[in-house]
Order: sequence, then C-alpha cells, then structure tokens
Amino acid sequence: MSATSYDYDLFVIGGGSGGVRAARRAAALGKRVAIAEEYRFGGTCVIRGCVPKKLLVYASQFSEAWEDARGYGWQFGEKHFDWPQLIANKDNEIERLERIYHANVEKAGAKVLMSRAVLEGPHEIRLTATDKRVTAETIVLATGGRPNPHPGLPGAEHCITSEEAFHLKRLPQSIVILGGGYIAVEFANIFLGLGVETTLVYRGQEILQGFDDDVRHELHQAMAQKGMSVRCRDTLEKVVQKPDGRLEAHTACGDVLDADEVMLAIGRKANTENLGCETAGVELDKRGAVVVDEYSRTTADNIYAIGDVTHRMQLTPVAIHEAMCLVETLYRNNPTKPDYDTVPTAVFSQPEIGTVGLTEAAAAETYDELEVYKTMFRPMKNTLSGRDGKMMIKLIVDAASRRVVGTHILGPDAGELAQVLGIAVKAGVTKDQFDATMAVHPTASEEIVTMYEPSYRIRGGERIG
Ligand code: NDP
Repeated sequence: MSATSYDYDLFVIGGGSGGVRAARRAAALGKRVAIAEEYRFGGTCVIRGCVPKKLLVYASQFSEAWEDARGYGWQFGEKHFDWPQLIANKDNEIERLERIYHANVEKAGAKVLMSRAVLEGPHEIRLTATDKRVTAETIVLATGGRPNPHPGLPGAEHCITSEEAFHLKRLPQSIVILGGGYIAVEFANIFLGLGVETTLVYRGQEILQGFDDDVRHELHQAMAQKGMSVRCRDTLEKVVQKPDGRLEAHTACGDVLDADEVMLAIGRKANTENLGCETAGVELDKRGAVVVDEYSRTTADNIYAIGDVTHRMQLTPVAIHEAMCLVETLYRNNPTKPDYDTVPTAVFSQPEIGTVGLTEAAAAETYDELEVYKTMFRPMKNTLSGRDGKMMIKLIVDAASRRVVGTHILGPDAGELAQVLGIAVKAGVTKDQFDATMAVHPTASEEIVTMYEPSYRIRGGERIG
C-alpha cells in the first residue's frame, strides 16, 4: 500500500498533552492527521491532574495566607470556605481549557474524532462510536494512564483516587491517604490546608522516594508540624465501611483510622486495555505499559507511543517533549531521541519542592568528590506573620569539574525556582558562575548565589566534614 492510499498520514489515539502536541505539529507540517479522543481533550494534565490539582493547591494556601496577614496588620471577620463553589469554579476553568485544546488541534488542520479508537492491525483503526474503520501510515498511541486501583486491598471499592477527589460533593472532615509519592503528598497538603484532618500512610522509610533525603525529611517534619499525621513504615490492610457510611482504615501496624474518605495514590497504570495492541504487534511490558525504543517506536514498525502510556517519565512536559522529538524524527528528517537528562520537577506540597539534577545520594555514587552547600532559614515573609516554616536550599557540586549537578529547594515558589535553575544545571553551569552572579536582594532565592563555603564534602561516598 502506498503512503497516499491510507486515509491519514498520522493517526493519534488520545487527546492529552502528548497526543495533541504530536497532532498539531504534524498537521502544521502539512501532514494529513486525525486525532481520536474518547472523553475530553486535555488528558490527565488538564482534566484530572496537574491543572485542577494546582487550582486546589492555590485554594488550600489561603488558610495560611489568612493567618499570616494578621501579622501584617490585616483584620478579617469569620472565615468561611465553600468547597462546592471551588469545585464549580475549577470545573469552569477546566472546560475553558478543554475548549482551547480542542480548537487548537482543529486550527492546526487535524481532524478531530470524538470516539474511542482501537487498533485492528498495524495500519487499521476502528472508531468505536461509529464502528467505522480508517487507515493510517503511522499511528501514535498517546492514551495516558489512570490511577492504580489496588485490587488487592479488601474494601478498595470504598476508596477514592485523585480522579474522584476532584469531584467530591462535600469536603470531608477527615481523610486517610495511602502512598508517599507526588499525588499522595500533594493531596495530603491540599486537604490539610483546607482544614481536613489528614493522615498519610506510606509503606517506606520516608515519603517521596527518589527525592533528596534532606528535602524528604524536612518536608515530612513541616507537614507533621502543621498537624498532619504522617505514618511511614505502615500500610493499609483493609478498608471497612461502617453503617453510617464512614470508613475504617485498618493499618498493618494494627491501628484503625476512622475517616470520611480513604484515598489511594499508589501509582498509575497505562491505558492499554482493549486497545488492540496484540492485534497490531505492539508489545506491552509486565505492568501493561507500551514498550518503546529510544525514538518512541513500539515493536510494530509504524506505531509509536508517547507520554504516560509508556511509563518512561510521567510528567506533562516530558510527554510534550516526546511528541516534539517524534515529529522531528518522522517528518523533519531529523531523528531525535527524547532527552531525559536533568529534568526539573516540582512537588506542590506545602512547603513546595523544586528540584533539578542529582540527589546527594545519587551524586555520591556518580562522582568521586562532592561539595554540598546547604542552608536553612526563615524566609522574611515569615517574620511578621510569626510562621515557623523554614526554607531549605541545597546545591550539590562535583568538586573536580565545579559543575552544579543538583539543586534542591524546599520552600515558597520552589517550583518556579526549579524552572530557572533547570536552565543553569542543564547548561552545565559551575559553582564559580553561581558565585559570580549578583544576588537579587531581598529575596529568599539570593541564597542560591551567596553560599560561598561548602557545608560539607563527600569523598568516595563518605561524608568528610
Ligand atoms: P508515585 O509513583 O509517585 O508514587 C506511588 C506511591 O505509592 C509510592 O510512594 C509507592 O511506594 C506507593 N505504593 C505503590 N504501590 C503500593 C502498594 N501496593 N501499597 C502501598 N503503597 C504503594 O505515583 P503517584 O500515583 O503519586 O503519581 C504518579 C506519577 O504522576 C508520578 O510518578 C509523577 O511522575 C506524576 N505526577 C507528577 C506531579 C508533578 O509533577 N508535580 C504531580 C502528580 C503526579 P514506594 O515509594 O515504596 O514504591
């Protein structure tokens, strides 16, 4: 079959961040593109992830801002928080963004098909809404993922995940959250900020595995100090619904936690069920994610996969980057592998984490000698407000090359700082160049360029003072 005898040059399955970007870029290059979406344009990020989450984070921060304002002379009347109003406003904003996503794909010239699409062969796709079959020279799977449902937990059917958390009719008075990753930690802080009695149950030694140990420890302390119950080295064994509808979460350590809601945040699963991958020769790994090579090509020659469905790095900007690389590879005669090195990231906890590059532990395994610069201080804003919260800034420097190989920040706007530091670390900037940079005063982040002496060194993996 020649290329032009297919209905489309490119068929994208999934209208999330990765799929939409691939469709728009390819269509803008004059390719005949179709994109199928079974539910709503925007995918996890816009509809049930990053965007609504950040809106809830903002909402939850007002309780502290309200208290802090008093130290600055403000007096208010009684506080009242309206959860249904917040959810309605958030839903309106999500609908607005969804319309923009949809319109942008059409404006770029791609055909939008509101249907589930399944593979019927390497070049054949069936649209389930109409039972129509179409063909494409190239297919991109960008179907994303969804919360892991934890079928092994008795009573899991009584629990919610992040998806339902965005649509609760009422704000619970108490919640137990299982997990210690991004989603568990972010939602625990959202609920705590909104005044909910919050318990985080995590099976490991310390929350946020993979992040720098100091950041993990300090965040844990900060959350506990604000009144969250953080139970590490524990997990849930069953969840029981009581006659009044409330829940009992039974933990492995033998405690029974009463709560209005129990939320599971134990990772995400690729959306590959009933997608027809077997029919088209697309191999899945044992977790059900699509197996791809360095160019996002699946085991079927003309089928590619990008974003969360591949379980590489489940982050929106990474999915978008994978889409951009794919279009370069396919349509611009420029084979491009996605670059996963030095990806900045943030956890929208309270305080926030912003991080880029290696953790101290990972850097100690990679480099012979490190200089670690670390400072913890009370940001100026917390003086008049009387708030205890500290900010931590940590730089990891390879002593031989002087390159800053990791930066870890815990504190206000750490996510914003990670974006800027990401440029410097990616560019291979040295500590001497940090030192040569003029401070912006008075800011909290000026400490990034004013830590002249290392707090300690690490040689051969050992701390040497
Ligand atoms: P994560 O992989 O970050 O964390 C999953 C957590 O659940 C871990 O703490 C894990 O423990 C725990 N866990 C896994 N299985 C079980 C189990 N059977 N019983 C008890 N605990 C279990 O997943 P999330 O769901 O939090 O988030 C998914 C992904 O979404 C993230 O990895 C991230 O890439 C992305 N994301 C990014 C955000 C951002 O950029 N700000 C925000 C939200 C999500 P252990 O550590 O021991 O394995």
